[in-house]
Amino acid sequence: MTPEPPLQVDAESVLGRLSAYRGSDAPTHGGRVLSYVYDSGLAGLDELAARAAREVQSVNGLDPTTFPSVALLEGDLVSFGRAILHGPDAVGSVTSGGTESCLLAVKAARDSWRARGGHGRPRILLARTAHAAFVKAAAYLDLDVDVVPVDPAAGTFAAGDLTRRLDEATALVVVSAPAYPHGVVDPVAEVAATALDAGVPCHVDACIGGLVLPFWEEAGGGPVPAWDFRVPGVTSISADLHKYGYAPKGSSLLLFADRDLDRARYFALTDWPGYPVVNPTALGSRSAGALAAAWAVTSALGAQGYVALTRRVVAATAAVRACVGGIPGLAVLGDPTGPLLAVVTDPGAPEEDRVDPHAWAGAVAQRGFVLQGQPGLVQADGSRIPRSTHLTVTPVTAQVLDDLCTALVAGADEVRGRAPGLESVPEALPDPALLARAARDTGELDLAAVLGLIEALPREASARMLVDFLATFTEPRPG
Ligand SMILES: *Cc1c(COP(=O)(O)O)cnc(C)c1O
Repeated sequence: MTPEPPLQVDAESVLGRLSAYRGSDAPTHGGRVLSYVYDSGLAGLDELAARAAREVQSVNGLDPTTFPSVALLEGDLVSFGRAILHGPDAVGSVTSGGTESCLLAVKAARDSWRARGGHGRPRILLARTAHAAFVKAAAYLDLDVDVVPVDPAAGTFAAGDLTRRLDEATALVVVSAPAYPHGVVDPVAEVAATALDAGVPCHVDACIGGLVLPFWEEAGGGPVPAWDFRVPGVTSISADLHKYGYAPKGSSLLLFADRDLDRARYFALTDWPGYPVVNPTALGSRSAGALAAAWAVTSALGAQGYVALTRRVVAATAAVRACVGGIPGLAVLGDPTGPLLAVVTDPGAPEEDRVDPHAWAGAVAQRGFVLQGQPGLVQADGSRIPRSTHLTVTPVTAQVLDDLCTALVAGADEVRGRAPGLESVPEALPDPALLARAARDTGELDLAAVLGLIEALPREASARMLVDFLATFTEPRPG
């Protein structure tokens, strides 16, 4: 086929190259990857999202007065958020993802702290398990972070341990529902009540829980501690549409209970000779594709659709927990609420039965299931959060339960008794550049080695190592 001028290469060849690139990706459907992807298992839903995104492909979300569809789509999604998060008067936006929602919650809190007369450096108060996005926001927006250690066995903290650190420099308190690493819901009601008394905003990071916890109890998952806008003192909530909302990547909801705080997330500028600038989110020109896709998915499912999907998640989560619970040498950390689990070496198991969670993840990967390794960490109080392997359970997990459990059991059998001591450091540290090139060129990432490096190196050095690792991995390839 000859390409139409001025195309140099015809569309089919371009798309052919794209599918070749996609060839080495982890499978995004079918329940083989238990992190990063949230597969509803409903093929029609993906197609609907694609058609909706295509419909608005050429729209610029920068200006909803020129493209009112953007305002209508966003308004519908905010209404949906109000209903499921029980904030009838909440206001907010759809952002590009959880990180942007967290960033804007911090920006709003910082500017409102300044408007209230705050001097010096504002501070965010959060637990060690709060998402990295808040530490990133603090780095970008120049705030301090006061990090409260969590109980390493429970994956959360006593409210008083956090609230006793509230002071006039505190611009924002962050709690999670649930926190990503271990899937445990923080004591939201207690923290929010004290924050309210102190006049400090309290953000609930429900990026991962925000579209599954509202349906958890009705879906048979049991009671969920109060965490949404019904809790006095909760001033903002982030809830990712591109996680348990089952929308394609690029959409999250950020809602505020209070209009003044909401306004503080905006950036507006009239002091330049270009078009009047008013940005509710971090970007300028922005795609409406992810917005329309998320709108289409939530419209089609409705609350009852989410309840039905959550029912599958609840059943699958219980089955995975039971499977892990039956594996000698492994244990689920704490008492998670919702669809996330962190699996650790069972501290009560005899030495010869212990299973290292990262070696386990490697052995499970050989059997076709991708789990997510999380490094261990020594906290400021000297306590050690154990290394763990994270499992995100989704509706499709229900379809692969038997194979998954077989792989989890057989993987553990393969590596049992070879758990390194919890304090052990690898003797020779591998070179991160070599690891990155090997991963790039062979498609085989030695994840346990990377995690081992992270645990072994001082924090600054391991962060620099990760930067070098990813930069090497994404460099243009020879040939
Ligand atoms: C995923 C997640 C985030 C960050 O969201 P991204 O969409 O990955 O940017 C923040 N907080 C929690 C609890 C999360 O699970």
